[in-house]
Amino acid sequence: MSFKFQRGLVWFRRDLRITDNVALTTALRDCKDVWCVFVFDTTILALLPTFDRRVEFLHQCVAGLNDSLRAASDVAAGGLIVLHGVATELIPRLALELKVDAIFAGNDYEPYARERDDSVQNRLFADGISFFRVKDHVIFEDREILTQTDRPYTVFTPYSNSWLKQLNEDCGKVAPVAPGFQGLAPLPVNFVRDIPALSELGFESTNLSTLGISGSEAAAQRVLEDFLKRIQSYDQTRNFPAIKGPSYLGVHLRFGTISIRQLVNLALEHKRRGETGAGIWLSELCWRDFYFQILANFPQVVGAAFKPAYDRIVWENDEAAERRFSAWCQGLTGYPLVDAAMAQLNQTGYMHNRLRMVAGSFLVKHLGIDWRRGEQYFAEKLNDFDLSANNGGWQWVSSSGCDAQPYFRIFNPMLQSEKFDPGGKFIKRYLPELAKLPDKWIHAPWTAKPDILQAANVTLGDNYPHPIVDHVEARNRTLARYAVVKDKA
Ligand code: FAD
Repeated sequence: MSFKFQRGLVWFRRDLRITDNVALTTALRDCKDVWCVFVFDTTILALLPTFDRRVEFLHQCVAGLNDSLRAASDVAAGGLIVLHGVATELIPRLALELKVDAIFAGNDYEPYARERDDSVQNRLFADGISFFRVKDHVIFEDREILTQTDRPYTVFTPYSNSWLKQLNEDCGKVAPVAPGFQGLAPLPVNFVRDIPALSELGFESTNLSTLGISGSEAAAQRVLEDFLKRIQSYDQTRNFPAIKGPSYLGVHLRFGTISIRQLVNLALEHKRRGETGAGIWLSELCWRDFYFQILANFPQVVGAAFKPAYDRIVWENDEAAERRFSAWCQGLTGYPLVDAAMAQLNQTGYMHNRLRMVAGSFLVKHLGIDWRRGEQYFAEKLNDFDLSANNGGWQWVSSSGCDAQPYFRIFNPMLQSEKFDPGGKFIKRYLPELAKLPDKWIHAPWTAKPDILQAANVTLGDNYPHPIVDHVEARNRTLARYAVVKDKA
C-alpha cells in the first residue's frame, strides 16, 4: 500500500473523539505512521479561573481520548501525546522531534485560533512540513454557502434554505467517516507518561460529576440517546425551562466529543419520518453553522456591533450601573425568571436557550448595560461557550447583530415568565426562597399583598430583593437610548 506521507501527526483541539473525526481519518489514510497529540495550551488556560467546569470536562475528554486511541491501536504503547505549554511553540517542536511530514487538524474559525494556526503553519512551512486544516466542526464552512452574488449570508432564513438545499445535494459529503486504525504508531519512549492531573494544570475539581456531566465520547452518545427519545416533541417543549426539552449536547458539540455530521444525519432521518421536532432541531444546528460563518466572514463582530451604528449607543456605566451589573450576575435583580436563569448558569454552567434570551435582554434593555459585558460573563460561565454562538446570541438580544430582534422589541420579563414558566416550577427549583409563593405572584413578587408574602415567608429586601428597576421606566429609557439607531435599524 502506498501513502502520500511516511509520518503524520494529528493535532486534536475541538474534536476530542475518534469516531467520525476527519483529521484523524485523513491522517490514517494519507500517512504510514500516525501520532496523535493534545496540548493543554497555557495561552488559553492562563485566562481561566481555577474553578472552571470546562477545564475539568476537557481533562476528562483528553483522558478518554488517550484510552480510546490506546484501545484502537494494535501496537503496544499506543495512545495520545499530551503536552502542557504554549501550543505555537510545542507543536512545531514536536513535529521536528517526530520527523513528521505533515500535521492534520480540524479547522477552527475563531480569530485567536486562526492566528495560532497561521503561526504554526508558517513555522512548519519553514521546516518543510505540511499543515492540513480540514473541515470537521461544521457542516458547511464560511465560503461554502454563499448568496448568488458570492457574498456571505447575513440573514438566517435564506441561509438556512440554501444550507438545507445543499445538505440534500451533498448528503454523501456529510456522511460520517470511519477510520482504520492500523497506522497508529507507538509512542516514543519519552512520551510514555501519565496525563498531568487537573491540579498539575493549576485547576480544581468542580461539581461536574454532581451535575451528571462527563467529558467523553461515550457520555455524548448517552446524552444523544436520551434526547432521541424526545426529539419528536422538541418543537413543543424547547421553550419551557422546567421541562427536559433540549438536547443538552452543546458542551459535547463545543469540545467535539460528538460529531456534527452524526447529529445532522440523525435529525434528517427523523425529519424525513415526519417528526416536526426533528426539523426544528435541525434548524438549530443550522443556526450553529450560521454563526460560525458570520464569525469567520466578519471577525470584526468580536468586540464590535455587526451593525456599526449600534456602537453609537451610550451604555450605563456609573456606580449604580455597576451595582446592577453585579446584581444581575448574582441573580439578585428581583425579577424571578431572570434570577433563576442566572442561578442555573452559576450553579451548573448551563442556561436554557429561552432564558439566555430573557436574561440577556434584561441586562441590555432593562439595565442599559453594554451587551459585551454580558457576553463576557456568559463566556466565563457557560460550559458550551462558543465565541460564534455566544457573540451571535448577544448581538441578537441587543439588536446590534445580523438578523437580530428589532431594537424596539423589549422582552417583558413578567410576561415571558407567565408564558414559559407558568406554574413557576423552574423559578422555584432555583429560587427556593420563593417556593411557597402562590403561582399567581411568582412572576412578580412585589405585586403581592404583604399578608401573602408573609404567609410564603418572603420578605422583600431581606430574603428576596425588590426589583432593581421598574419595567416601564426601563423600557422608556431603552427606547430613548436606542433612538441613535432609529434610522439605521
Ligand atoms: P439544543 O436546543 O438541543 O440545540 C442543539 C444545538 O444546536 C446546540 O447545542 C447548539 O450547538 C445549536 N444551537 C441551538 N441554538 C442555537 C443558536 N441560537 N445559535 C447557535 N447554535 C445554536 N450556544 C452555544 O453553543 N454556545 C454559546 O456560547 C451560546 N451562547 C448564547 C448566548 C445567548 C445570549 C443566546 C441567546 C444564545 C446562546 N447560545 C449559545 C445558543 C443556545 O442558547 C444554545 O446553543 C443552547 O441553549 C444549548 O443547549 P442545548 O445543547 O440543549 O441546545
